[in-house]
Amino acid sequence: MLSEKMEKALNAQVNAEFWSAYLYLSMSVDFAAKGMKGVANWFAIQFQEEQAHAQIFMNYVLSRGGKVTLAPIEAVPTTWDSPLAAFEATLAHEQKVTALINDLCHLAEAEKDFATANKLIWFVNEQVEEEETAQGIIDSLKMVDDSKMGLYMIDKELAARTYVAPAELTA
Ligand code: MG
Repeated sequence: MLSEKMEKALNAQVNAEFWSAYLYLSMSVDFAAKGMKGVANWFAIQFQEEQAHAQIFMNYVLSRGGKVTLAPIEAVPTTWDSPLAAFEATLAHEQKVTALINDLCHLAEAEKDFATANKLIWFVNEQVEEEETAQGIIDSLKMVDDSKMGLYMIDKELAARTYVAPAELTA
């Protein structure tokens, strides 16, 4: 049984994950419209990943006999000046999500809810990956600077990303 506080915090995280999904979908369609198919593809997959994160939290709340409450999703930005701007916004956003996950870990410990603390470990590790990946793409984009050929190559590389559902969800 989840405490009321824990249930509320997990539901807030479900909303945060859907907001992330919406943010990345917005980036995807922005770059699709600008003809950068690879960047659009990378963010479309990020959109799917964030929905999976929300689903993992929802499944978990349900597995503990809790109630999932879906709240409205706030509006997201709609345009970015460049892929670099979008990936910098991605890194900043993921750093915020990391802080949210850390807060959840603190709350789980305070509530002596070790099942939830244990579940959150997957997200702790996932956030390390999210930040590292965004930073890696930022580094590449900075390396090519304004080179059109460089951007073309990176766009091709990002086009190769495919979606793999997290094991946490398919298990
Ligand atoms: Mg996420």
